[in-house]
Amino acid sequence: MLRVIDLRDRLASGEQLDYAALVPRAEFDVDAAVEVVRPICDDVAVRGVSALRHWSDRFDHVVPEEFRVPAADLAAAVEQLDPEVRAAFEVAIDRRRRVSAAELGETSTTVELAPGAVVTQRMIPVNRVGLYVPGGLAALASSVIMNVVPAQVAGVASLAVASPPQVDFDGLPHPNILALCHLLGVEEVYAVGGAQAVAMFAYGVEDLCPKVDLVTGPGNIYVVAAKRLLKGLVNIDSEAGTTEIAILADAEAEPVHVAADLISQAEHDPAAAAVLVTDAPGLADAVQAELAAQVPEAKHAERITTALGGHQSAVVLVDDLDQGIDVVNAYAAEHLELHTVDAAGVASRITNAGAIFVGTWSPVSLGDYCAGSTHVLPTAGCACHSSGLNVKSFLKAVNVISYDRAALSEVARHVEVFAESEDLPAHGAAVSRRFPGDASGRRRP
Ligand code: NAD
Repeated sequence: MLRVIDLRDRLASGEQLDYAALVPRAEFDVDAAVEVVRPICDDVAVRGVSALRHWSDRFDHVVPEEFRVPAADLAAAVEQLDPEVRAAFEVAIDRRRRVSAAELGETSTTVELAPGAVVTQRMIPVNRVGLYVPGGLAALASSVIMNVVPAQVAGVASLAVASPPQVDFDGLPHPNILALCHLLGVEEVYAVGGAQAVAMFAYGVEDLCPKVDLVTGPGNIYVVAAKRLLKGLVNIDSEAGTTEIAILADAEAEPVHVAADLISQAEHDPAAAAVLVTDAPGLADAVQAELAAQVPEAKHAERITTALGGHQSAVVLVDDLDQGIDVVNAYAAEHLELHTVDAAGVASRITNAGAIFVGTWSPVSLGDYCAGSTHVLPTAGCACHSSGLNVKSFLKAVNVISYDRAALSEVARHVEVFAESEDLPAHGAAVSRRFPGDASGRRRP
């Protein structure tokens, strides 16, 4: 079911292996999708609500009566919430909130470099965020929690949520999404999806949605492409796109668990990636057999089969776990599961992954909902340089510099010399003019 990439014995033959290239990703990439979403984003910038109507009709096959969800619909969604679903939501909120509180850490750090020379770093929340909640193939109510809770813990004053309008719900987002927004106290919710939602947030739409400072949240390749395109106009979290799971497993791994976890993420999107890296060919065969048994039983078997059969999914056979660790570090998966005897030891050697799931009792689907961690994670190799969505994603670090006369005097000559060395004498003069009448270069106290 998964194609096999066999890297065994290739290092021994002296070959230089570029693992990032050997374990490929989806052929339709974000760069290509940027060109698809550019006209959508431009249209929203120019035509505002009329553009939202056009693109909602085209991609969501419904045009909401009002793009801003009425307050009454948010409240009504809570009334209709299944009690067991509500209980699951509350556990997930509580766990994410507790971890978020720890993520916040110190919001102010002060260093006194010399008497009267003080630098403080203050972490200040952005004023306004646009939070994207996917709703194409599945309505990810869990993404409301993953976006809203850390934003609230960070202290963001103005939060807006957008999620695609649903044909089945008269053009409103899925009721569970509305219910969670209401439970979390978010009143500004839009029935807008895809690139047009990101553009609405980034440009603002007159008489509907004021511009935001930051757009966060997961989404499909078009959502990610719009975030990449409009970054700079607004900030974004990471490029949290089409789901990926990599599993590093040894001969002791449980094939039933490994196969179930590969399937669980393939269920997200036909373009999702599922990669098994193992030094145990027997385990690889057992997992392939399990996939063949489990996939037909899955509700979304067609989508899963496409994802597992895609260019972006594979079994990678390696010589040993050392090579396996190199492969998964180069691949930088959104989700990395470790099914090895010493999973904690292996975890300590992972440098690139959106999130690391240690051992067979920590599956990705736990992290999708209730682990307390975020599920908004960098994809397509962005885990090499980006973090999952967390409280700090909503904060700006601002330095506050406070020197008194004596403290400035102490370093004044260094500033002047530096300025001269960069041929920016006015920089130096801005200091020397504060200490007139001292031609010797010595400062008056
Ligand atoms: P979505 O809300 O992200 O996308 C739906 C929108 O895509 C539609 O409203 C439409 O506007 C737009 N769209 C669809 N086809 C288009 C086209 N041809 N051209 C332009 N725009 C188009 O919902 P989804 O499609 O279900 O995708 C959710 C994605 O989020 C999945 O790929 C899943 O793997 C991913 N995800 C990622 C993370 C993460 O943190 N990385 C977490 C959860 C989910």
